[in-house]
Parts: sequence; C-alpha cells; structure tokens
Amino acid sequence: MNQGLNKGCRCPACGREVYSRRRPACEFCGELLPVELQLTAEERKAIDREICEIKERREEDKKEEELARQRDRRRRHTRSFRWPER
Ligand SMILES: [Zn+2]
Repeated sequence: MNQGLNKGCRCPACGREVYSRRRPACEFCGELLPVELQLTAEERKAIDREICEIKERREEDKKEEELARQRDRRRRHTRSFRWPER
C-alpha cells in the first residue's frame, strides 16, 4: 500500500518543499495544495491547540509582568509616603 508517507511534502506545481502545511496553498507559487498534502482536521486541531497554549503562556507572562510593575509602583508609592513625624 502506498500511502505517500515517504514522499515528503512537495508542491506539485513548483516542486518546492512545503513547510507550512497549515496553509491550503503553496507559499512559493500560491498553487492550492492537493488534499493529501493538506493537514487533516485532527492535525490542524492539534497545531491550533499548541498555538493556543503558547499564546496563553505569553499572556500569562505579560500579566505577571504587569502585576510586577504595579507592585513596584505601589512599593515606590508607599515608600515615598510618610506620616509626618512628631
Ligand atoms: Zn508551489
């Protein structure tokens, strides 16, 4: 049975290797790729999930950064605020 697993992914129109199979078309010549070269719905979902996780992680980092900045600001504020000494 030939399932074409060892063929590698090449664009049938220009013969270049297809790196990003998330796109339905060749990056080089814009030719639509045959269904066999396109990702299955399942593969696409797996990749989407991965990208989602990366994005979430990045957003968490950003949130933490923002929190740290706010904490810093607050600390600076309390430091500069002093009750008048008697
Ligand atoms: Zn091509």
